[in-house]
Amino acid sequence: MSQEGEQEHSDRKKYEFRKVIEDLKDYDGSGTQLVTIYIPDDRQISDVVQHVTQEHSEAANIKSKQTRTAVQDALTSIKDRLRYFDTFPPDNGIVLFSGAVDSGGGRTDMVTKVLESPPQPIESFRYHCDSDFLTEPLEEMLADKGLFGLIVLDRREANVGWLKGKRIEPVKSASSLVPGKQRKGGQSAQRFARLRLEAIDNFYQEVAGMANDLFVPRRHELDGILVGGPSPTKDEFLDGDYLHHELQDSVLDKFDVAYTDESGLKDLVDNAEDALADAEVMKDKKVMEEFFKELNAGDLATYGFEPTRRNLVMGSVDRLLISEDLRKDVITYDCPECDTTEREVVDRRKSTPTHTCTECGTDVEGTEENREDAIDHLIDIAEQRGTETKFISTDFEKGEQLLNAFGGFAGLLRYSTGV
Ligand SMILES: [Zn+2]
Repeated sequence: MSQEGEQEHSDRKKYEFRKVIEDLKDYDGSGTQLVTIYIPDDRQISDVVQHVTQEHSEAANIKSKQTRTAVQDALTSIKDRLRYFDTFPPDNGIVLFSGAVDSGGGRTDMVTKVLESPPQPIESFRYHCDSDFLTEPLEEMLADKGLFGLIVLDRREANVGWLKGKRIEPVKSASSLVPGKQRKGGQSAQRFARLRLEAIDNFYQEVAGMANDLFVPRRHELDGILVGGPSPTKDEFLDGDYLHHELQDSVLDKFDVAYTDESGLKDLVDNAEDALADAEVMKDKKVMEEFFKELNAGDLATYGFEPTRRNLVMGSVDRLLISEDLRKDVITYDCPECDTTEREVVDRRKSTPTHTCTECGTDVEGTEENREDAIDHLIDIAEQRGTETKFISTDFEKGEQLLNAFGGFAGLLRYSTGV
């Protein structure tokens, strides 16, 4: 799969995760009976099964019969689901949710959800039994956007690493043999100065090599590079064009940091807070600028569910733009009288309305089978046509407009279709 493809896949997956979380947050257990388990990918499934079995037998001590039964049922359901996995969980781990939830009218339903391979690795095993499902760690992962390269250096030491969402990952370090400013007796001042400059140049090359090795293979995914260090080291390093030219172009900014060890990476991220917030929505901003430009002065923009869908079906959409905060379903109505197919977009939580056929005026009742997630509906068509999908944040003005003024769906076209 191409890197662009992977990104798309993960955006879609994030959307699926968000939907599950929103559903889970709506549930309340009627006691402390909702079970959540976070499993890192290096934890053996058999260990987890053992842990769950242990919890199951301890749950026998719960005094309320109703709660006891609910917890034990949840644990049994989780154990059943764990059977489908091999020795270890898939990459990044698994999250399991299970419990008896209030389904109204004094009745309860058992709900079990399994989320595989979250966008970031689960770092530690967590077992949680409470009146709510534990969704915060997953929500944090989903809120985190962006992949940034980090470089901190002075003339003695350098560290490079990643910033993935909020997580800092130190990867490589180097230390230099640059001599101090004091020359030894017997050495000529000129020769000493030359050797020292050479050593500095060599070290910058080494640091750049380290950064290139790490960042170049993922340069298309990178949202930017941050460089930190004391003056004038970081300036010399950047002004000297040591980095691969594509990396050099993606340097967001340089920042003063006091340390150049691993803690320097953290200082760098702290100091770059504003630049990072901007960079996170930068890509979204760019594409929305392009959309508005076409809307005002070109003919390569479309918006609204139906026009966007028609263009998608024709294969004329280059990029499908979907508001990240959109939660809509689409219902397809096939008129039994005149065979016309029409669609209505409704809020996720609204019931299915009856539709009046615009061709012949017949009332067509909507069915649950003909109702589906509107975003999934469009992405399925987009995938068949090789159209790239972009989820657009609502954290900036034009992103908000996509949701509120354009129905949450839009497209940038490859060619004008007049639709
Ligand atoms: Zn009709």
